[in-house]
Amino acid sequence: MNPLFFLALVIGLIALALWIPRYRLKRALAAPFAEEWVLILEKNIGIYRNLPMPLRLELRQLIKQFLHQKHFSGAAGLAVTDEMRITVAAQACMLQLNRNSALYPRLKYIVLYPSAFVVTRSDMDGAGVVSHGRKGLLGESWQNGKVILAWDNVLHGARNFVDGSNVVLHEFAHQLDSETGSTDGAPLLAGASSYRSWAGALSEEFEELQKDARLGRRSLMDHYGATNPAEFFAVTTETFFEKPRRMAKYHEELFEVLKSYYRIDPRDWQQPPGDNSHE
Ligand SMILES: [Zn+2]
Repeated sequence: MNPLFFLALVIGLIALALWIPRYRLKRALAAPFAEEWVLILEKNIGIYRNLPMPLRLELRQLIKQFLHQKHFSGAAGLAVTDEMRITVAAQACMLQLNRNSALYPRLKYIVLYPSAFVVTRSDMDGAGVVSHGRKGLLGESWQNGKVILAWDNVLHGARNFVDGSNVVLHEFAHQLDSETGSTDGAPLLAGASSYRSWAGALSEEFEELQKDARLGRRSLMDHYGATNPAEFFAVTTETFFEKPRRMAKYHEELFEVLKSYYRIDPRDWQQPPGDNSHE
């Protein structure tokens, strides 16, 4: 074969391989957002109706992209429905509003169980002892492109977007965190000064939460966040989205750092505490 022809063929095939996924994504994004999907959002996502219209529209585009790029499967006999896909995607995409970045590029699969699932795992404690335990889990985030969720808890968390507990926000915060290559509580940030203020605000608050957990003191953030910096980031993300007013009041610096990271202010759509006038 003529070497020049061969080279042109290779370049052509590479160009095609790059073009096809972009073309398919463009087509998926251009398709209308189904009316039934809007009804699912209104029924299942507690704060959807409170979002300003530009954010609702952006969320719908992100959901289309998410559904196009990620593969859902059911475990333990669960048949995955559109309602499940939309409810997971909507909450995962809340973390991506206004960010204009790649949509969980490492994530490929979402596995749904009907409810809390049991895994057998090996944990190594500080002394290097490996223990085998079986425990019920509501969610898990894997660095190799997988998130596992318990559907009943996903739905409960979606409908109650004000109690500070949300398994989808939690697991997808871990996904953002793992985009750096390690899940350590520091996601990708812009510039060294951002890392300095991130480390400053988070480490101080992390130590405070550890103290609260040790002493059994009540805290705005769940004590589970005291486990390690990665869990702290995931738990503070839940609090940021679901209890933004109290976080801004009692953990101002942490709130500001998260606000500039997520590029949104959930106070704009969360009702003040005690106002339950909306559905
Ligand atoms: Zn976690």
